[in-house]
Amino acid sequence: MTPSPDSGSRSPPTTPEALAQAETLCQQRGARLTQLRRRVLEIIWNSPTPIGAYAILEVLRGDGRAGAPPTVYRALDFLLEEGLIHRLASLNVFTGCRRPGHEHGGQFLICRDCGQVEELDSPAVENLLRAEAKIRDFEMRAQMVEVLGRCPHCQRGSPAHVG
Ligand SMILES: [Zn+2]
Ligand SMILES: [Zn+2]
Repeated sequence: MTPSPDSGSRSPPTTPEALAQAETLCQQRGARLTQLRRRVLEIIWNSPTPIGAYAILEVLRGDGRAGAPPTVYRALDFLLEEGLIHRLASLNVFTGCRRPGHEHGGQFLICRDCGQVEELDSPAVENLLRAEAKIRDFEMRAQMVEVLGRCPHCQRGSPAHVG
């Protein structure tokens, strides 16, 4: 799996890299990355596009695990709380965080054609929203920016994750 040469951003970590990073972070924080939580994170990272809770459950069932929905939701809550994944509200799907371990809002470019998501790393956008909230005396807890559109691959008529 090679990152597309035309994308100007850093390439995302591979699944093993993301899992190793998650293990280190949880160890540092004394949080328990149980087998199920780790497996759910792995499924999210293995998925070419952000994945919903139901699809995760299906993969777990394929593993031979009797995955009860509440346990999967609890695992997702844990991963969200630890900042290892993000939830994209507009599609109700989950995606692995590319830079966990550091407090940040999420800014995402979401392709409506192929479902690919790119997480931006823009302190400028974050600071602008923070300033706008402050002017309005609004106490900001979290910020999620979801931008819907078409990725470069789909504009050229070839989805990114094919071939
Ligand atoms: Zn993130
Ligand atoms: Zn696309």
